[in-house]
Amino acid sequence: MNDTATLSMREQTANRLQDVKCQIDKSAEIGGRDPADVRLIAVSKAQPDERLEAALAAGIRCFGENRVQEAQQHWAQRRSDYPDLDLHLIGPLQTNKVKVAVQLFDAIHTVDRPKLAARLTDAFSASGRQLPCYIEVNIGEEGQKAGVLPADVDEFIESCRRTYALPIVGLMCIPPFDAPPAPFFALLRTIAERNGLDRLSMGMSADFQVAVELGATDVRVGTAIFGPRQPR
Ligand SMILES: *Cc1c(COP(=O)(O)O)cnc(C)c1O
Repeated sequence: MNDTATLSMREQTANRLQDVKCQIDKSAEIGGRDPADVRLIAVSKAQPDERLEAALAAGIRCFGENRVQEAQQHWAQRRSDYPDLDLHLIGPLQTNKVKVAVQLFDAIHTVDRPKLAARLTDAFSASGRQLPCYIEVNIGEEGQKAGVLPADVDEFIESCRRTYALPIVGLMCIPPFDAPPAPFFALLRTIAERNGLDRLSMGMSADFQVAVELGATDVRVGTAIFGPRQPR
């Protein structure tokens, strides 16, 4: 890629980032919230190296990935150049990848079953690292989707705290694709509040504004910052 094309990709990324931040500010204002309470996680899955570089050049340090192996390819080396990277796992975590994930990431958004909770506890004590954990809620009760059902989540949070002593900081959800997201975001917030949890990981490119209005503390935004993903 020549210098002109590289520059324009950087400008494009910086512009998109500015746009997203501006919308977060507006939505926070509508929701009566401080925009500083909203963490923007740039979802870099399935993006080429030059876009990752453009995002870093634009000052982004907080990234989300949904696959452990791809996250390693994207970030393991770059860690040494950018010690302030903040990496969030937002995709499903298989128990055989827990050890690697705990080394690489700074937060896990997808705790959704007892076996995974138990493995995380083991990996935390073995590594001396304690990562903030979010419980993923299958907020629309969809058959094929990951996450704990709303009816089961209070009990699961309790067992994560008591049995597994995990540092649970909040809840995460991906609402149904084909319905207005607001009621699902509101429900996630209600569940978090009654369980004394402060953080809400909700909102993607299509709906982060609504999520911020309704209390999101972590929005996971991919294509609105990076542009379309590459086919895997
Ligand atoms: C891919 C992904 C996102 C980002 O999606 P965009 O629509 O590109 O913003 C957010 N959250 C999760 C869990 C994802 O897998």
